[in-house]
Parts: sequence; structure tokens; C-alpha cells
Amino acid sequence: MPELPEIETLARQIRPRVCGLVFSQVTMTEPTILKTSAPILKKELPGRKVQTIFRQAKFLVFELSGKLNLWFHLGMTGQLFWAGPEFPRDKHVHAVLEFENSPQGLIFRDIRKFGKIFMSNGRADSWPEGVKPFAKDPLELSRENFIEILRRRAGKIKSLLLNQRVMSGLGNIYADESLFEARVHPRSKPARLSAKRLENLYFSIRKVLELAIQHGGSSIDDYIHADGRRGDFQNHHKVYGREEDPCIDCGARIRRIRLSGRSSFFCPHCQKF
Ligand SMILES: [Zn+2]
Repeated sequence: MPELPEIETLARQIRPRVCGLVFSQVTMTEPTILKTSAPILKKELPGRKVQTIFRQAKFLVFELSGKLNLWFHLGMTGQLFWAGPEFPRDKHVHAVLEFENSPQGLIFRDIRKFGKIFMSNGRADSWPEGVKPFAKDPLELSRENFIEILRRRAGKIKSLLLNQRVMSGLGNIYADESLFEARVHPRSKPARLSAKRLENLYFSIRKVLELAIQHGGSSIDDYIHADGRRGDFQNHHKVYGREEDPCIDCGARIRRIRLSGRSSFFCPHCQKF
């Protein structure tokens, strides 16, 4: 599932291509992905200019002229990429967004169909109807806020990092990588960790996210860049997906446990409970 670095990568790639372009035609073949009725989108988009593109939590937001905003969420397997008319419109292509004076357009493709497109009016950073606002992400939070938010919660650190109402942007990959970076066991309780260790976790998360963005995110399964290429941070994972492999730091075998119904990868020697 795409997390913060993957969506940030897409925003940075799509922004220079699409900002300033004017929508011409919208083709929508799968109405369920659209949380706004398709006829409205087809009617509203043509003629509107893309003013800015940014990431909010795990959403990619297009701010359009006339105070209309388009929000993309890639769900589990969504892809949003830039392609010309030669790209085959297979059954997983659910929307094609075309622009004036541009042979290429944006294609929304999604095998499992958990991805969604929303529309909102007014300020670009106000959440669309039907979407419960997500919390701030670790790149937006101050160190003090980060520590305070975790300290006042019961529960295990890994589960809290995955909870998008506590903080947004992290999924299984980057939560595991960050906890390893900070040498914190995924089952630790934040209330029992010192402020120093939580501060260390805060900087570890930011470091892992920044590094992942530099590598264009992780392409584990379906995630691709706007030009169809893959991210390569999956080649730099230290614990995620490395069960039974030796820890790059101490050589102990990486373990996998179940936590809140998800797999958690960690080093039992570096990350003591
Ligand atoms: Zn280790």
C-alpha cells in the first residue's frame, strides 16, 4: 500500500508536468472509484486549470481554478501515471484525464479498486465530504507535539504509528523501518519510553521518510512512478520483509510477529522489549 514517501514522490513528479494545464476531457469507466458522481466530474473538469498539486496525508490533491479540488487516494493497488494514447486501456484503467494541447494525460489504474477520487469545493486543504480528517504527518509535526501525542495514548507504539487518526502517512513498511532505526521494539508502550527515546524515534521517522522520498519510495507490488518506473527504496529496507535474514547491524535473525493483525518485522537483539 502506498505510504507517505510514495505519494510525495508522485506529487513531485506530476506537479511539473501538470501544473498550468487545462483539463479537456475526462473518461470514467469505473464509477465506484469516484466518490463524486461521474457526470459531475465530466461536466466540471473541462476548462479548469491545475494550479497546484500537493500531498496531504496519503492523498494527492490537485487545486483547480474556480475553487474546485480533486483528491486522489491510491488505496492498496492504485496507480496514477502520465501516458499517451498508445497506452493500452485495459480493464484496470478506471479513469483517463486529458488536457488541452497535450497528447499525454493522466491515467488512474487500480487492480483491487480500493483507490478513490474525491472532489471538494473551497480551500484546497479542507477535507472533502465523506472523508474523516486525517491527523498531521510526522514531517508536519513538531518534536514536542509528536512526543505529547504518543505519551497521552495507551497502546503499543507500532499500532499507534499506523493509526492515521494519531498521525498520518506511515504504513507497515515505514513504521517497521523507523522503529528499527530508533531501536524501539514494536510492542513498546510510549508512556513507558523516555522523552529522549521518543525524540530519537521522531528524528528516525523523519530520516527514514526523507531517505525513502530520495529513493522514489518503495515498489513492493503495484506502486509505480508517474513515468511508469519503480521506486527503489525496497532495496534499502533493513527489517521490513527480511524475516530470518541477518540484521545488518548485529547479525541476529530478523523476526516477524503479528501485531494488531499486521506483520511486524524487527531485530530481537537491537530492539529490546
Ligand atoms: Zn540487530
